Amino acid sequence: MSGHDFIVIGAGPAGAAFTYYASSRGYRVRVYDLHAPGSKPCGWAVPLQIKKYINIPREYILTEIRGFRIFLDEKMVREERGELWGYIVDKPGLLNYLIESAELVKKPIILNRSSLRPLRKDDYRDPRSTIIAVGSIGAPRLGTDYINAVQQIVKVKRSIDTDIIEIWFDSSLVGYYWVFPRDTHVADIGVGGYGSFEEFKKRLVIFVKKRFRDSESLSPIKGARINVGGVNVSLFVRDEFPVIGEAAGFVYPITGEGIRPSIASAFALFNKMEKGTDPLKTINNVITWINRQRKLLQKIIESRPSTRAAVLESLPTSLFTSIGLGELDLKSAVKLLLSLPRGAVKVLQVLLRD
Ligand SMILES: Cc1cc2nc3c(=O)[nH]c(=O)nc-3n(C[C@H](O)[C@H](O)[C@H](O)COP(=O)(O)OP(=O)(O)OC[C@H]3O[C@@H](n4cnc5c(N)ncnc54)[C@H](O)[C@@H]3O)c2cc1C
Repeated sequence: MSGHDFIVIGAGPAGAAFTYYASSRGYRVRVYDLHAPGSKPCGWAVPLQIKKYINIPREYILTEIRGFRIFLDEKMVREERGELWGYIVDKPGLLNYLIESAELVKKPIILNRSSLRPLRKDDYRDPRSTIIAVGSIGAPRLGTDYINAVQQIVKVKRSIDTDIIEIWFDSSLVGYYWVFPRDTHVADIGVGGYGSFEEFKKRLVIFVKKRFRDSESLSPIKGARINVGGVNVSLFVRDEFPVIGEAAGFVYPITGEGIRPSIASAFALFNKMEKGTDPLKTINNVITWINRQRKLLQKIIESRPSTRAAVLESLPTSLFTSIGLGELDLKSAVKLLLSLPRGAVKVLQVLLRD
């Protein structure tokens, strides 16, 4: 196992980003993955705020997103188009680019399921420079809560807006459907939330037919679990076999957005290892918002469908998006509070009580 400065287990966004930071600084990295990077089902959507951690080269940007349409029980409740919001990226291309200077070994590393430490000594040299980034596939029992999500790539006859994402809420479901454009005639369509894979597969077939009458599937329906239990700080900050990405809970629980927080965790860990900075401080905002969204998700689960619908309709768009992105600062929150309807004030109260 000699000759490498770092061993990274898992080449999803977290492991690939860590590899990128380390190999760009001249370290030799070996990455293990049992699958081709980016083959896990994912919507490939990343908000602009990813720039804090990584620059995405143009060739991996499929579409630029400038707006959204939100539907509630099949009725459009808001629509916005304006500034650049984020991208749909070519995730496999991007991950391969991030690890291109490292050695990729296609092999699974057997880990202890509860401690996430490699079982065979031959698989690593130094526990302090062996990074665990195995996502929810490799750490299936460590999260305290999971949702399921399924998706399908679909070719549509009539052209779609490539700069708009659609989010469809259904008040009978804690979760949502999405339509993410990959080009003018191809979309990634999915549904995720609390429900079984079987239920979601059925829901998706019905939804696709309803939304795009003349569509042709380009892939089978595929799904995966998403860890929405919140950040497991002790796995993340431990000195031996530190854990990053979704395996350590780096996912925004309400939106299921995991690429950006996983990359953020890699950024914070690499800076800790190279410069000795405190990783909890480096990405304090990410961790705080994952925890806030976790609390809010609990409230949403406990609430009645009619309350969920009322809150969705009453939240001003700026609040809706900043909660989703985890980007609301306290100053703007106070300003917003003064102009909010009552339903929205309740949501804010939950958020700010920590
Ligand atoms: C249907 C769906 C849609 C989604 N859409 C979005 C979206 O649009 N935007 C967004 O931000 N997030 C989305 N997410 C969440 C996002 O995909 C994940 O949170 C994110 O990929 C997590 O990154 P990661 O690197 O931590 O883990 P992963 O991406 O899961 O990568 C882990 C890697 O480790 C490998 N691995 C696992 N075990 C081992 C082992 N023992 N040895 C070697 N290798 C191993 C796996 O093969 C995998 O390649 C979606 C999730 C799902 C399920």
